[in-house]
Amino acid sequence: MSAAINEQLIREVVEEILGRLDPAKAGAPPPAAKPECHCPKPQANASTGGLFGVFQEAGPACEAAAAAFVKLRQGGMAARHKAVTIVKTLAEANATEWGRIELEETKIGRLDHKIEKLQGIKNVPGVEWLRPDARSGDHGITLEEYTPFGVIGAITPSTHSIPTLSGNIVNMVAAGNAVVFNAHPAASRCAALAIRAYNEAIARETGIENLCCIIEHPTLESFKALCANEHIRLLCVTGGPGVVKAAMQSGKRAICAGPGNPPVLVDDTACMKRAARAIIAGAAYDNNLLCIGEKEVFALDSIADKLMAEMENNGAVRLNAAQLERLTKAAFVFKEGQGAGCPEPVVNKDFIGKDPSVLAQAAGVNVTEKTQLLFAETDARHPFVVEEQMMPFLPIVRVKSVEEGIAAAVEAEHNYKHTSIIHSHDVEHMTAMARALDTTLFIKNGWCMAGLGAGGEGYPSFSIATPTGEGVTNPRTFTRVRRCVMVDNLRIY
Ligand code: NAD
Repeated sequence: MSAAINEQLIREVVEEILGRLDPAKAGAPPPAAKPECHCPKPQANASTGGLFGVFQEAGPACEAAAAAFVKLRQGGMAARHKAVTIVKTLAEANATEWGRIELEETKIGRLDHKIEKLQGIKNVPGVEWLRPDARSGDHGITLEEYTPFGVIGAITPSTHSIPTLSGNIVNMVAAGNAVVFNAHPAASRCAALAIRAYNEAIARETGIENLCCIIEHPTLESFKALCANEHIRLLCVTGGPGVVKAAMQSGKRAICAGPGNPPVLVDDTACMKRAARAIIAGAAYDNNLLCIGEKEVFALDSIADKLMAEMENNGAVRLNAAQLERLTKAAFVFKEGQGAGCPEPVVNKDFIGKDPSVLAQAAGVNVTEKTQLLFAETDARHPFVVEEQMMPFLPIVRVKSVEEGIAAAVEAEHNYKHTSIIHSHDVEHMTAMARALDTTLFIKNGWCMAGLGAGGEGYPSFSIATPTGEGVTNPRTFTRVRRCVMVDNLRIY
């Protein structure tokens, strides 16, 4: 080949590469607009029986999700990004309606906060989270990539059904996985409604059907069938102690977002007004359904009265001893004849996530519609302190010292290693509590949601993996790390 032909060839190759990188610079015409998708609308799949990801049994749902996983892999990062964007967009666009539907089905929590939670799905991390780790040296280059598992089995709670499901899809699909859900039976209709909407849009935009599947009528049997299915490579459960135990016994690797009972410590260096406002905002959120929500407060004796006065100034309603006793009898079920002194009270499900007015009625007190939270002084062994009660009522316990407060907080947290909060300007107190509690989230001088990026730095997720240690879940949580090594003298400097 002559030098002139050689030069011409190189010029053409360089122009072609530049054209791919920047069509305008290379003088090439911009790429044609993507043709409109004419995929047929997904129909009930004859072999699996699913319609827009909603299935009657675990087996066909897992089969369909496995096929979707293969198609997602073929679609590359672009398909993942598109699917994730659809979920974020639809969650926000339907927040008001889906929030109302979820509240109507579950009858727990508050509409304004159910809407807010769905609007917040847009902040859940997506494909941008998956940056590979690379190193280069005298012996070549090594790339560690975050790659998908395949099909994930996910269990969601009654407390935030569509938000957990939506956040899980964003994280899991961004990481390249497909997912099959077994929702809480009391929140499964709204979950199936969201799944239908997501799949319909994802199939229309990407041609991938059944990327996120659900079992329409979930049961313990469908949970077991899901765990046992050969396509399920990983489990992600979000719920209380029962489901965490069941998942860990399944024989599959399980990422467990378990229960919490977050204690709050307030010392004499804190700003009482700020602490009171933060405590009310957190404990009142969605009628205290959040696993990270403030559930009991330990206040130094010297500032306890001031803190409670600030809580009253900011709209919380204080119950007296007789009112507290009436509420306790209604809000917990006790063994025959043992009354409020029973060491193992069980939360009365009829009161979980109910409005403050319902609790106030049981306590025999009138409150206005605007009341967000009730509170009362209790001792550290009170059922409202010991149990994860999920009601807009907060027990306040006086402690004589920070040491006593930390010890009581450790006991109330039950070693769930979930969330704890301190209001203090003393760094030594902060460090002592952080060390003793050793919780996944530890928030200083803020409300609980600051731990998930609302008023604090960070990002949200509705699955905070506590006993299994992955922390606030994100796309990387749902990946395998694979190393790709190229041996050569590749350094250019
Ligand atoms: P739940 O434990 O009653 O139910 C959670 C899910 O597990 C549901 O889908 C339910 O059907 C299933 N389940 C329950 N027991 C099971 C068993 N033995 N075998 C198989 N499946 C089972 O919890 P809930 O009332 O829906 O939600 C509230 C609980 O979830 C609280 O304890 C809360 O702290 C916790 N939670 C934790 C997180 C987190 O990120 N760590 C987030 C939300 C809720």
